Amino acid sequence: MYLIDLRSDTVTKPTPEMRKCMANAEVGDDIYGEDPTVIELQDEVADLLGKEAALYCPSGCMTNQIALKILTQEGDEVILEEHAHIFHYETGAPSILSRVQLRPILAADDGVLTVKEVEDAIREDVYYMPVSRVLIIENTLNRAGGRIYPLERVKELSSFARSRGLSPHLDGARLWNACVATGVSPKEYADHFETVSVCFSKGLGAPVGSAICGSKEMIKKARKVRKIWGGGMRQAGIIAAGALYALRNNRERLAEDHEKAQCIAQIVASAKGVKVDPTKVETNIMLFEVGSFDGVSKAITDLKEKGVLISRGNNTSLRAVTHLDVSKADCEKAGNIIAEYFKN
Ligand SMILES: *Cc1c(COP(=O)(O)O)cnc(C)c1O
Repeated sequence: MYLIDLRSDTVTKPTPEMRKCMANAEVGDDIYGEDPTVIELQDEVADLLGKEAALYCPSGCMTNQIALKILTQEGDEVILEEHAHIFHYETGAPSILSRVQLRPILAADDGVLTVKEVEDAIREDVYYMPVSRVLIIENTLNRAGGRIYPLERVKELSSFARSRGLSPHLDGARLWNACVATGVSPKEYADHFETVSVCFSKGLGAPVGSAICGSKEMIKKARKVRKIWGGGMRQAGIIAAGALYALRNNRERLAEDHEKAQCIAQIVASAKGVKVDPTKVETNIMLFEVGSFDGVSKAITDLKEKGVLISRGNNTSLRAVTHLDVSKADCEKAGNIIAEYFKN
């Protein structure tokens, strides 16, 4: 049976045009800094974010972890929101790779921190406490259903963090979605951060990779860390070409993914057995509140049989994500299948 795959925007496959660019990419040995396509991608993404330099890496986990490595010293503390990707889905890497401690704080407002909440978490400057060193902001907020971090709040948090000696890092895996939805440029967001991580293989549809962006000095350090961790690549231009194609051609079209998510959310909102507020669906992620852990597990299995692949959001919610490889018609169909399943 044909399955409509709404598990994640990472499931997209390269299109024929993208594959053509990849097949024709000029390449060289990137460990020697001689891959022209990798260099082009890095220059273009750095430029777009208004940073001096960028480094192409195999994954967003790697770019986030490299940022922590170059911004911290062992034993430092990293402040982040309770639902952050870095806290939940990066295998505890900060404690392994950078030997830092995470300080998760639960934002009262669904993933979006206030200055007061951050201020309360910053350590006093005494020798027996860890040093508060980094503030992480995620945009869009993965576990808050693709919510956009308001630019004004980013500014406040960043300038406050800097005034207290913390470096702000942006986990911008879906920064492109936030920018398309708001009209704020990537640079306007990125300006408020020391380091920025962006992803090419989510909504943009490239097969591989993320970039870390920052000052020349930061990226020089990042290159060394990437090599230490085995992430140095040779003729990486083949995959960088896919990322470059994605960056040039697939950003504006993210608006379609947001429309498709609205469409699904509005259809599902009519069902009585599940809760979703379409006004809270700001980008391409939807959370459907089911009410119980087992209810979510059962729905995932049952909906698969009906032709829709969907994943778990948290203990009691389902999560659906729209992307390049699901059509508007498929989204309507999936919305109807989900609404029918939860109608009572
Ligand atoms: C997907 C994601 C990442 C990193 O993903 P990789 O799969 O390692 O590329 C980082 N942060 C957020 C918020 C994400 O959604």
